[in-house]
Amino acid sequence: MNKRELLYYLKTENERDITDLFRTAYQIKTDNVGNTVYLRGLIEFSNICDKNCYYCGIRHDNRQLERYFLKKEEILEAARQAVNFHYGSVVLQSGECRETTFTTFVDDLVREIKGLGPSPGVTLCTGEQSYAVYKQWFDAGAHRYLLRIETSNRDLYSRLHPSDHSFEKRLHCLEMLKNIGYQVGTGFLIGAPGQTLENLAGDLLFLKKFDIDMIGMGPFLPHPQTIYATKTLNMSEKKKRFLLSLKMIALCRILLKDVNIASTTALQALDPQGREKALQVGANVIMPTLTPSQYRPQYLLYEGKPCITDSASDCRTCLTRRITAFGEKIGWDQWGDSPHFFNRTQSRVHD
Ligand code: SF4
Repeated sequence: MNKRELLYYLKTENERDITDLFRTAYQIKTDNVGNTVYLRGLIEFSNICDKNCYYCGIRHDNRQLERYFLKKEEILEAARQAVNFHYGSVVLQSGECRETTFTTFVDDLVREIKGLGPSPGVTLCTGEQSYAVYKQWFDAGAHRYLLRIETSNRDLYSRLHPSDHSFEKRLHCLEMLKNIGYQVGTGFLIGAPGQTLENLAGDLLFLKKFDIDMIGMGPFLPHPQTIYATKTLNMSEKKKRFLLSLKMIALCRILLKDVNIASTTALQALDPQGREKALQVGANVIMPTLTPSQYRPQYLLYEGKPCITDSASDCRTCLTRRITAFGEKIGWDQWGDSPHFFNRTQSRVHD
């Protein structure tokens, strides 16, 4: 699809076209990555962040938030739970911190988690770091990295972030991660203040051009302790944003075919079956939370985050039921790597 066609589908309210779009996306998903859903146990191990992204509930300047940093044993316990639950992989996510105590802590942590049997796949989501740190963590055993760019449009990026947050630097980080050998993931806010449908079409083409392996994007949901607090969505806005999010996932699948696409928890904040519906239009990864429940209210990037009070075991039971009810299979004990990563690295070998 070219930009004009992408824009058409992002704009259209024609139900037949939307149904066709979703059906095509699901067919492309099953043809290229099958109908197995891979699970990543999500451990949000620290909400301490040096950055100040205007839309984010855990931004540095939010003084109303109680900060936490899990003890290593608490994180390892959550990782063991992932292994016992047969999730196959974990995602270690935190706010951004570049101090050596932090980077060394993550290094040790990854090594210990990789030592669990059977060794889970490890995805990191810990922000912008130097080449040396990314390499150190890769050598420790992390092999996937998520770094959302939030928008591929420089102007919009500068309106969503303070002036000392650099779009170029984020791009450079994505390049470094790719060069080191990570499977690289990125994603966008959908419906961010000031964003146009042209911006979103540009985002889709950015993913294609950058040859990304994994995608994690979600609807923009205003957080009450940010400057967007007054923009709480009414029911009709929620429905529209949810539909736009599904369209973005479907278009991603059609454009990129063999990538991994996460069905993010934020979708469930807009629709009770949000995550399952995303699986029906192209997504193939879900990240059930393993963050100890007492810390979850302190890791709210947006308002209305679901599953705050459920135990890890409740989440497992609930998600299993939801996924299989929609006819999808679960890839228990599998890392579920992005086929695109192997296809692109293989083609480089042959070049
Ligand atoms: S979006 Fe990420 S980097 Fe930005 S403030 Fe939130 S946690 Fe920090």
